[in-house]
Amino acid sequence: MAWFKKTRVPMAAPAKEKASRVPEGLWVKCPGCAQAIYNKDLATNFSVCPKCGHHFRLNASERLRMLFDGAWTEFDKDMVSTDPLVFTDTKPYKSRLKAGIESTGMKDAVIVASGAIDGVDTVVASMEYGFIGGSMGVVVGEKIARGIERAIAERMPVVIVCCSGGARMMEGALSLMQMAKVCGALARLDRAHLPFISVLTDPTTGGVTASFAMLGDLNIAEPKALIGFAGPRVIEQTIRQTLPEGFQRSEFLLEKGMLDLIVDRREMKPVIANALRFMGATRKGPVLVPPAIEPPTAVIESPTVVAEAAPQA
Ligand SMILES: [Zn+2]
Repeated sequence: MAWFKKTRVPMAAPAKEKASRVPEGLWVKCPGCAQAIYNKDLATNFSVCPKCGHHFRLNASERLRMLFDGAWTEFDKDMVSTDPLVFTDTKPYKSRLKAGIESTGMKDAVIVASGAIDGVDTVVASMEYGFIGGSMGVVVGEKIARGIERAIAERMPVVIVCCSGGARMMEGALSLMQMAKVCGALARLDRAHLPFISVLTDPTTGGVTASFAMLGDLNIAEPKALIGFAGPRVIEQTIRQTLPEGFQRSEFLLEKGMLDLIVDRREMKPVIANALRFMGATRKGPVLVPPAIEPPTAVIESPTVVAEAAPQA
């Protein structure tokens, strides 16, 4: 027998998992309170744990179903990334796209649609985390920017539901350009006196936080959502300090003034509708705002001139 060789005898065969008698997908274990929740209870409760209020992640179309009164009209549904850099990391970007399309049934990580939120016609962009981490590539940026432009043309408010890991690195600098493009469109929306509400859900990070997610007239977050730019581990390594408790969670950011509101998902729709109405949106129809008051360019000399000029204006 060789000196340095040990014949290994396996201690014991790994225990086989006991076959569960509960059909798969009937119960979900809540990560918040570790209790089992009946799937149907979860579905009727907007995917919020009825016991502890933990907010489960929703996909993009569930979000739209939650916000809109009924059917919605989707825009630019078939826009697909062209893989401009022919990028490959651990696997080709093309196959990542293909996997995303197969698993979500979407062509990219956002749905942009218009419909009524409690009677208020609104353009909503809803991001899909299941599609390459909800990352923002050229298609996501272009779809959101077009949605905002449509909102300007039809005088509708905009709501963006953020759920994203940030810019899509497989599209390199092109993905970073989307930050500027969407922000530019939002600036035009603002100049048109139309409201924009940003809804930050778990997680909203990277280039999305660094651009449009934080630009809302109102920035509303869901409870305990992870919101930040770089991840906590990266920050700790960079500044060589331990981060405070609850860092990058909604509650912490609200306290520090980065957010306006934290709203329970079950209250989200009425809160958004009320806020939109407060900001000038009307039930059914375009947003009506008084025209901006321009500073007078000429000195008006007599009251008769005012009377003549008025009908033309
Ligand atoms: Zn729970």
